[in-house]
Amino acid sequence: MPSHSDSVSVNQPKFSDLKIHPKLLEVLHRLKFETPTPIQSQAIPVALEGKDIIGIAQTGTGKTLAFALPMIERLIQMKGRGVVVLPTRELALQVEEVFRKVGGTFGIRTAVLIGGAPIDRQKRDLRNNPHVIIGTPGRMIDHLQQRTLPLNDVKVLVLDEADQMLDMGFAPQIKKILEAVPRDRQTLLFSATMPDNIVKIATQHMKLPVRVEVARPGTTIDTVIQEIFIIEKSRKDQLLDAILKECEGTALVFSRTKYGAKKICRNLNLTGYKAAEIHSNRSLSQRREALDGFKSGRYQVLVATDIAARGIDVIGIELVLNYDIPEFAEDYVHRIGRTGRAGQPGHAITFAMPDQRNKIRQIERLIEDTLLISDLPQMQDARPSQSQGSRPAHSSRPAHSGRPSQNGRPPYRGGGQKHYPRRAR
Ligand code: AMP
Repeated sequence: MPSHSDSVSVNQPKFSDLKIHPKLLEVLHRLKFETPTPIQSQAIPVALEGKDIIGIAQTGTGKTLAFALPMIERLIQMKGRGVVVLPTRELALQVEEVFRKVGGTFGIRTAVLIGGAPIDRQKRDLRNNPHVIIGTPGRMIDHLQQRTLPLNDVKVLVLDEADQMLDMGFAPQIKKILEAVPRDRQTLLFSATMPDNIVKIATQHMKLPVRVEVARPGTTIDTVIQEIFIIEKSRKDQLLDAILKECEGTALVFSRTKYGAKKICRNLNLTGYKAAEIHSNRSLSQRREALDGFKSGRYQVLVATDIAARGIDVIGIELVLNYDIPEFAEDYVHRIGRTGRAGQPGHAITFAMPDQRNKIRQIERLIEDTLLISDLPQMQDARPSQSQGSRPAHSSRPAHSGRPSQNGRPPYRGGGQKHYPRRAR
């Protein structure tokens, strides 16, 4: 596949350098998007020419606008429809928000087809002849089977977070969608990693795609400080509490299972934190409430499972905490992509149990880097007591010499990595 990166200007381009229509530039200006992110400056001019693209970019790099902007511009200029296929409901709603914000001025209508939402309403939205259809593969196939999903006039197809869709077992549904859309179309595929099954889709279903890449497949975002604590299962809650006490901003906590997520969330709330949970046992409205509350600051902590967390687009999450080390190394990349978004600094902490060193090594192999193992801080017993109504006032960690924060707690120092970091092996 040809690489486009050679032709990208070294100087930071502006949106006005990207051959975007002046009216769209006005909208971007109004939305305060001034400087394109690297994936945007690479992908937008190529997509505007109608070429197929494989975009290797993690979430948080601005890839939504990278496909939404050219799709909107092309749909304004020509008849036809755009379709975005993506792995989760949350991501679908966030992508739709971007299309509405940018395309609304031009009368771009959208429909969102996701599981867990009433199908009749979706059918009504489809009868309204939307310009852009955004959906998860399962529900899109439901509509396709009921002949309510018009794919015969699709001009631009986006497969977003393609690696995750394949990991979730959506390959058959994606194949059906690829077979149902016209051959003469533009395909934009975005993925954080580039496994063989994605290469296969590219060779079988795309036309000489231009590869645009903002980071090596499997690399983590540069601005994220990463550290590991080796900890027994029984002491994880104590460590979580010790770390959260020093976290001033929002924290996203990952649990391996939905039952685990529920338990962590309950314990945090009993300890006095404002925490919400997001996993597949929660209804769509509960997930939305949790996500909105996390975005608005009503909840400081969001506890999530991997699948539910896809597409969580909240700027400036201070800390991603892997309460359970991810089962698959690829998920580590997705998880920590939630902090340090759009160039902001972030912090990722992972709890690994003593017998999970092989998982640390798998992650290190994937990210081609060594992870720091930090010393455990002093910890108090964090067992929740029913009578505790508010957060403990003092940190259990050693006093910090830095400037005190407004709320009297020492500034978050980022786990224990400032103590005695040592290599993971
Ligand atoms: P995404 O990777 O598409 O989920 O975007 C991550 C975050 O970056 C979102 O909150 C976007 O609103 C934000 N963002 C996207 N493009 C830009 C840009 N050019 N300038 C500033 N923020 C952006």
